[in-house]
Amino acid sequence: VLSTMQDVPLLISRILTHGSTVHGTSQVISWTGEGEPERRSFAEIGARAAQLAHALREDLGVADGERTATFMWNNAVHVEAYFAIPAMGAVLHTLNLRLPADQLAWIVNHAADRVVIVNGSLIPLLAPLLPKLPTVEHIVVSGPGDRSPLDGAAVRVHEYEDLIAGKPTTYDWPELDERQAAAMCYTSGTTGDPKGVVFSHRSIYLHSMQVNMTQSMGLTDQDTSLVVVPQFHVNAWGLPHATFMTGVNMLMPDRFLQPAPLAEMIESQRPTHAAAVPTIWQGLLAELTAKPRDVSSLTQVTIGGSACPPALMAAFDKLGMRVCHAWGMTETSPLGTVSRPPAEAVGTDREFEYRLTQGRFPASVEARLTGPGGERLPFDGESAGELEVRGPWVAGAYYNGPDAEPLRPADKFSEDGWLKTGDVGTISPDGFLTLTDRAKDVIKSGGEWISSVDLENALMSHPDVTEAAVVAVPDEKWGERPLATVVLREGSTADFASLRAFLADAGKIAKWQLPERWTIVESVPKTSVGKFDKKVLRRRYADGDLD
Ligand code: ADP
Repeated sequence: VLSTMQDVPLLISRILTHGSTVHGTSQVISWTGEGEPERRSFAEIGARAAQLAHALREDLGVADGERTATFMWNNAVHVEAYFAIPAMGAVLHTLNLRLPADQLAWIVNHAADRVVIVNGSLIPLLAPLLPKLPTVEHIVVSGPGDRSPLDGAAVRVHEYEDLIAGKPTTYDWPELDERQAAAMCYTSGTTGDPKGVVFSHRSIYLHSMQVNMTQSMGLTDQDTSLVVVPQFHVNAWGLPHATFMTGVNMLMPDRFLQPAPLAEMIESQRPTHAAAVPTIWQGLLAELTAKPRDVSSLTQVTIGGSACPPALMAAFDKLGMRVCHAWGMTETSPLGTVSRPPAEAVGTDREFEYRLTQGRFPASVEARLTGPGGERLPFDGESAGELEVRGPWVAGAYYNGPDAEPLRPADKFSEDGWLKTGDVGTISPDGFLTLTDRAKDVIKSGGEWISSVDLENALMSHPDVTEAAVVAVPDEKWGERPLATVVLREGSTADFASLRAFLADAGKIAKWQLPERWTIVESVPKTSVGKFDKKVLRRRYADGDLD
């Protein structure tokens, strides 16, 4: 029996129209590094997004389905591009500006981007790449920065403000198929080439509704969210779309991502919520410890991207910044799990434990655990296996060019179409996911597994340790052994023996799991999205030698 409901497509243009009218007075506040930040209302963003769509279509000839790139920080203009490009029927391609030049060039060529919108401050990064980007014809520049590195490049250069000036402030957004591509994002190529994940209008729409649920971020138009997670890192975890649904104000840090300006932004603009990876928060915590600020407005902090160290959560709790831990990946749009403790644990000793897990899945994301022989494992909180997921905002394949069949590599997708996450963990009977490690980061010592995350968390609970990353190094007797790379607080006199004794005394790490190889460094290398770069560490210590 067919339903009697209307079949209305779920489109980005609807989110834009809603946000820029019903929540027209909400604001995007962009940090400029000097004086007052730039404030732009959702209504103005709606008008400028329409102007941008006219310019892209009429002046630059952007076609339906054409991948159109941004090379930008988080700011109001990037939000305009976020809406204009998909709403008109093209595909927003956010480029990760921290990737190595070769990978960036590979990605632009693979997507065949023809137009790139760039922040003026990023021209020095983009210009040297241009000779390797034969598909790029137009560069649209927004914001301050020297344009001269673009002189002589074989592209046409446009000023964003000139391009949109005088264009109509409304656009007759087309009624698209909701399954059509709206945005794309490449995963960093940890193994092999980067892989393109293409989000649909429908997947983004549904994901935004989930982000807004009370069980997820649950923000309202009384909130201001400090969006530190880059707009090129899985759509800033869905925040720009979700906020236009509910009128949440966005505070955008632009290029000012260092701890001191972040602290200043929090003190002066008084956001209520913020989202970023743990390494950002470790830096902010050190800054606030050295120079206390009024951070009393910030009561909710979403942390994800890698495991939240318990010591960080506890320290933020003390500052009144309540951490909500979340898990996800580019392939899951990214919202997978969120660690809201169950009612019966609230106010008990178990509450903190629950908050440290990766959390529960929403109704729309199904999970299963698969053992080494392909067997299904029970959700008993003990059986550890590879996490597989499926759902309406979970990738089922990777981009392979506009006319080619999408790629479904067997190590990433099961035969019945589930995404293999590469993450290993348990799920409790009440549905809480606890990740022990990434499959490729686990240390296999004498036939047993050592979780690098457990060792890192235990180390980072030492008062003198600001960062700790543990990787496997080859060992003749055991196959692999853990090597700990540690960053110490300035002035600390801790040494390897005392750190090892601290780990042994903490009681959480078995004696055979204690690292015997240690190195102290000034900072742990980070990936393009700010996670500990274990690939670099593994390479650095590949021969098990510390020198
Ligand atoms: P990359 O592979 O470049 O890191 P993603 O940002 O898509 O790209 O990373 C997804 C991965 O990050 C997950 O598969 C998982 O290993 C890790 N991750 C994300 N959130 C968490 C979390 N809360 N705890 C532990 N690991 C996490």
